[in-house]
Amino acid sequence: MSFSRVWSLPLRRGPMSNAVPSALSSARHTPLSGRTFSTSVQRDATWGFIGLGQMGYNMAKNLRAKIPETDILIIRDVNEETMAKFVKEASETARSSGTGVGTSEVLVAQSARDLVEKSTVIITSLPGPQHVKDVFHSFLRQGKLPALDQERLFIDTSTIDPASSKEIANAIHATDQGRFVDAPVSGGVVGARAGTLSFMFGASSRNGQLLDRVRAVLLLMGKKAWHMGAPGAGVAGKLANNYILAINNIATAEAMNLGIRWGLDPKALAELVNSSTGRCWPMEINNPVPGVVETAPASRGYEGGFGVSLMNKDLRLAITAAEESQTPLALGKIARVVYNSVEKEHKGKDFSVVYKWLQDRPQ
Ligand code: NAD
Repeated sequence: MSFSRVWSLPLRRGPMSNAVPSALSSARHTPLSGRTFSTSVQRDATWGFIGLGQMGYNMAKNLRAKIPETDILIIRDVNEETMAKFVKEASETARSSGTGVGTSEVLVAQSARDLVEKSTVIITSLPGPQHVKDVFHSFLRQGKLPALDQERLFIDTSTIDPASSKEIANAIHATDQGRFVDAPVSGGVVGARAGTLSFMFGASSRNGQLLDRVRAVLLLMGKKAWHMGAPGAGVAGKLANNYILAINNIATAEAMNLGIRWGLDPKALAELVNSSTGRCWPMEINNPVPGVVETAPASRGYEGGFGVSLMNKDLRLAITAAEESQTPLALGKIARVVYNSVEKEHKGKDFSVVYKWLQDRPQ
């Protein structure tokens, strides 16, 4: 097993059943809030988190803050700088709070396999289906995972398509290497930071213990965890939600643009709509016009938030899944033309940048 030593505090030799190898990078981190765990969570001593992006970074921080100090969190991202930043922040928090040396550790893994071999709960937060498949296949093709005291639980919080999610679930279940649960998330970066996310998950309802265990883990990073049905049901629910979001976002940008050209005050228009039947998340929380909602990405140059490429990816996945189930969509392909063009012109920006894109169109 190869772990890099990014941080060099002494390693904890605690009551944990999965002994940690001596060549690990580590940091101490302190709990930010009181601990309320179900028994099922307390038994998970080593946690793995793969994908520390806009969502994952904040989710992993909340996880580290809420799991017992004596538990270990192992992180993995292809971006070395991100991992180093996470470890540095964790150690700074630990230092300032005076947590005991060797507790609340964060370790950095050099590969997904290294992380998965040690962890009883593995959470993934990756951009799209191919990234998730690549990560799972990268460790599955290296042979059967060593058994741990407790069955491994894989929770994928990425937004991917039901077919890919079921394929990965089958690869894990058929080889008896743990349980795989699709649990995509809603609530954005703000919710990830605040620990107020909503999760929707797919897992067999015949396994009550599994459902309890999944809920307990998800509630360490969010406020709600909906069991939507069998494996794949979580991502199906997420794609249905994001299909609405994709279209509401365009409609909101168009309506704001229209109202402003008619001479309406943007804040007054938003207030009216938010008290009327046009009310929706893009209008109320993520308003695309700079200055209407101070906390929205539009008010800071469309930085942060939900990237336009991710929105376009979710729309593509929803359209493909609709085609596979022979379900008609009247607006999907039109919206896709819009997002393709917006992505080309404003890559990396929040998806509300559709408003700016509209303004730049010739009339
Ligand atoms: P992101 O692109 O910011 O983060 C993805 C992270 O995965 C990056 O840090 C990247 O380096 C890492 N990564 C990529 N390939 C990897 C690999 N092979 N091994 C390890 N790490 C790898 O994306 P995000 O905004 O954090 O979104 C993550 C998922 O959550 C996506 O599926 C997205 O659709 C979904 N989601 C995002 C939001 C949002 O507001 N950003 C909201 C709800 C759901």
